[in-house]
Amino acid sequence: MRFCRFFADPIHPGDARLTADASRLGVVRGDGIHDVTAVLDALPALRWPFPREDQVIANFATLRPRMEDLADKSPAIPLAKVRLLSPVANPNKILLGVANYPEHVAATKKQPREHGMFIKATSALVGASEGVELRNTERLTVHETELAIIIGKKGTNIPKERAFDYILGYSIGMDITMRGDETPSYNKSFDTFGVLGPWVVTREEITQPNNLDIRLWLNGELRQDETTSRMVLDVPSMIEFASSVMTLYPGDIFMTGNPKGASRIAPGDMMLAEIESIGRMEVAVRAEKKS
Ligand code: MN
Repeated sequence: MRFCRFFADPIHPGDARLTADASRLGVVRGDGIHDVTAVLDALPALRWPFPREDQVIANFATLRPRMEDLADKSPAIPLAKVRLLSPVANPNKILLGVANYPEHVAATKKQPREHGMFIKATSALVGASEGVELRNTERLTVHETELAIIIGKKGTNIPKERAFDYILGYSIGMDITMRGDETPSYNKSFDTFGVLGPWVVTREEITQPNNLDIRLWLNGELRQDETTSRMVLDVPSMIEFASSVMTLYPGDIFMTGNPKGASRIAPGDMMLAEIESIGRMEVAVRAEKKS
């Protein structure tokens, strides 16, 4: 299954309503989205303190058959007519792989496990249609295009042999990064610097996550062209590594590291990211409007 979160009205990038409660839950079939927002009535009523996990992901086993059923009965909205938000609304955390392709191991002279991981603030998370906003246009900011794992089940110290049990699905992740001497958590956590989309493809549709082509075009020019088969730590190893430090929660997002070819982005640019078996998404770059 493919599911997304979207906003159906005509709306412009950067519009505050994109992140408002008016977002819809959709099942994606072909070029159409079926609005299944009504299934959210099945979510448990919650009171503070709220659970740490994303509630759609945590309750996905209950919601999924209802989503399929409602999608059968509801008309398709053309994909081109909606604006895509991050398919995960409330992740507990966004983890980022470091130096997970051979070129970056060579450049840093350290293996991924020696680097550890980066963390991106969850407030940086956006969907494809929200676009990337640059606050410091004079600084070098680059695109990074990464396979994103969506965690489906709470766990810690997960052995890699059981790692797939903890995966709900996959998305395209864009780890937008301002280069410089500040800490990576700061450079990667500007609002809009975590793009997730265009939807989540559930695990059973992607049997070989460790062998997917990844591409990024900037203004129509191919800049990144890689396969996840060249990742140093594969998908189960990354889950084992991350969960050896911290508990993973349903809805956690793990971007598995950037392939070679990151390049500068500037206001007016259009990025097109594609991962085999997931799909493609266009993401626009703009400058922050100074008021
Ligand atoms: Mn990255």
